[in-house]
Amino acid sequence: MTQQQTTGGDVRLTGISKTYGSFTAVHPLDLTVPQGSFFALLGASGCGKTTTLRIIAGLEEATTGTVSLGGKDITGLPAYKRPVNTVFQSYALFPHLDITENIAFGLRRRGVKSVRKQVGDMLELVQLGDFARRKPHQLSGGQQQRVAVARALINHPQVLLLDEPLGALDLKLRRRMQLELKRIQTEVGITFVHVTHDQEEAMTMADTVAVMNGGRVEQLGAPADLYENPKTTFVANFLGTSNLIEGEIAGCGTDIVVSAGGGKLRLPGDRCSAPAVTGGRVLLGIRPEKISLAHADAAGRIAEGRNRVTGRIVDSSFIGVSTQYVVESPAGRELQVYEQNIERDARLVPGAEVVLHWNPAHTFGLDASQSKL
Ligand code: ATP
Repeated sequence: MTQQQTTGGDVRLTGISKTYGSFTAVHPLDLTVPQGSFFALLGASGCGKTTTLRIIAGLEEATTGTVSLGGKDITGLPAYKRPVNTVFQSYALFPHLDITENIAFGLRRRGVKSVRKQVGDMLELVQLGDFARRKPHQLSGGQQQRVAVARALINHPQVLLLDEPLGALDLKLRRRMQLELKRIQTEVGITFVHVTHDQEEAMTMADTVAVMNGGRVEQLGAPADLYENPKTTFVANFLGTSNLIEGEIAGCGTDIVVSAGGGKLRLPGDRCSAPAVTGGRVLLGIRPEKISLAHADAAGRIAEGRNRVTGRIVDSSFIGVSTQYVVESPAGRELQVYEQNIERDARLVPGAEVVLHWNPAHTFGLDASQSKL
């Protein structure tokens, strides 16, 4: 198991939906999880991500649609017959069994006599070789979760489903376990489908993220694409601070020119998900770390071609890796700016009149008829 598996295939959901009485938890969705990928279902509580995962596991029956694995329809297959295993947030380890026996459980149940080698490989994979004879209560939360992963992987599933597996861990441990799970997935090479409400977690671990909202997939893509080029205000705001600036389209070409905050701002035409029509309304978004600040007196030194809006610092806080500013601006109420590597003396103080400026290429455009929130 320390070498990559090549079995399995893509997980494909076609027209999958789930209703409970008159309530629709999952609206009909089509989703393909490529074989061997680390795929995250990301969204706020109640958006339908666990239901979707449970439908893949066979723990929940879909109201409509089909689930296939490697081209084979598994919709009617009971959970225990699917080549799929699930790791839950509650590790569900057997308290009276030691770690070795917890991991060996699935093999023993299938009547496998000699489990030593396989359990040894698993212990090595999750780096718990020294803990083989401990009971679960003698392990930390992160170690227990690794046992749960090893126990699920020893059955050689083609797909591992993880339902908020790190939810019970404190922040530091969670960050460590994210990297650990990613390492394990890379090592075993099987498909992982991971449910989380934590955007940073999804972005750190997954190759592909499906952002869910109200039982629908709002956008699907690589983490960096979703962050840099969100298509809806929900995705833009869920993945970070968006600094939305509302304006009117003044001209459409390769670049779209937008009148906003008393000036003209540009964005690349292919980064605008609003209809590009002159006179139309658009929301421009720009991530806080893409913005630079100049004191108003030094505005003349800003390079040509950059987007710029004026503002006044209302708050600044030094948080170690960066200084975070809140800037009041006629362009968009309060805008946030994160600046790194600035000398203590160079930090701007509340009350300072500033110009915010950025490369237009980093601007994204959203449909202004959507809510800003
Ligand atoms: P969380 O992160 O809180 O687990 P989630 O995104 O995973 O949320 P689901 O558990 O998939 O959400 O639930 C989606 C919606 O379906 C929720 O509004 C939930 O209340 C509802 N729901 C889930 N199971 C049932 C059920 N058995 N009967 C009725 N409604 C249900």
